[in-house]
Amino acid sequence: MNRPWQDHPLAQELETGLAAVRQAGQLCRTVQAQIDLGELQKKDRSPVTVADFGSQALVCRALGEVFPADPVIGEEDSTALRETGNEALAQRVVGHVAELTPDVNLDDVCRWIDRGGAKDHSPRYWTLDPIDGTKGFLRKMQYAVSLALILDGEIEVAILGCPNLGPILSNDVADRGDGSLLCAIRGQGAWSLPLIGDDRAVPVHVSPQTDPTRIRFCESVEAAHSSHGDAARIAESLQIAAEPARLDSQTKYAVVSRGEAEAYLRLPRDGKYREKIWDHAGGVLVVTEAGGRVTDIRGKELEFKHGYQLENNLGVIVSNGHVHEKLLETIRDLGIGRFQ
Ligand code: AMP
Ligand code: MG
Repeated sequence: MNRPWQDHPLAQELETGLAAVRQAGQLCRTVQAQIDLGELQKKDRSPVTVADFGSQALVCRALGEVFPADPVIGEEDSTALRETGNEALAQRVVGHVAELTPDVNLDDVCRWIDRGGAKDHSPRYWTLDPIDGTKGFLRKMQYAVSLALILDGEIEVAILGCPNLGPILSNDVADRGDGSLLCAIRGQGAWSLPLIGDDRAVPVHVSPQTDPTRIRFCESVEAAHSSHGDAARIAESLQIAAEPARLDSQTKYAVVSRGEAEAYLRLPRDGKYREKIWDHAGGVLVVTEAGGRVTDIRGKELEFKHGYQLENNLGVIVSNGHVHEKLLETIRDLGIGRFQ
């Protein structure tokens, strides 16, 4: 076990977050392994619901033990778990959580989940996406558990669990890895560790590519979350030969952080949708500390001080830094993001 950050004042925050995301990732893998992709089961969204609640319960329990005063802005609350008719679902959640923290009951689980119910900005808070990329989770593809600590609007600590990402991004979509964790402390760098087992933290760095024609970019699988058409226009304008890598979740940030793609484009479909902080905070610090850059499509820094949404930003552009200005210039020239 090596810990390059062990003497940093926020080392305990990072260690606690890492242990929490590891546990959550394990729960998610167990639940995902039970999904049957057969026709009958395809419409059943309950596995993601179970894993979502279980993941948030485990992370909030761990944070609450060490930092009881810290608010957590998470995606879920426990209302649905307490509703009549959902008893079986609730028992599944409790069962999975109990595999990792014995002697729990539904009240404990709901209490932990609701620790993640903060909505407003405060000087010190965590933000959590217990399962980012729910569609990817259900497809047995990529998804992430994303956790970040924000102090006075600055992301200081980030942990990005990618339970299906191997040490190298595979082109074979059926080849799912054993899970990777990425983490970062502001000003200290970004590291990668396996989700389970060997605990060596290895520094990660973005790609050194400076030639925009030779880049590969990532985008959402879901066209509803990011305009594939506008991305294709950018690719054409820059004469990018490589096909985009389509991945669900903040795994896209992980892939850029590890230098396996040079950019991640999240191009808005309309002028109204506001990005949620838990969909970005973890990824943003990891990729920035790996040497990359993140702005919105107009070149503005993302602002994590307006509650649970990025109120003053539109879309997100992530890059290795070298090709960032060129991407922003192309977006401007093509009129992308100008809505009536
Ligand atoms: P991805 O896996 O990158 O496609 O992103 C998944 C996230 O997209 C979810 O966690 C949602 O919070 C978010 N999302 C939902 N609707 C939209 C939308 N219209 N535009 C952008 N993101 C969205
Ligand atoms: Mg999400």
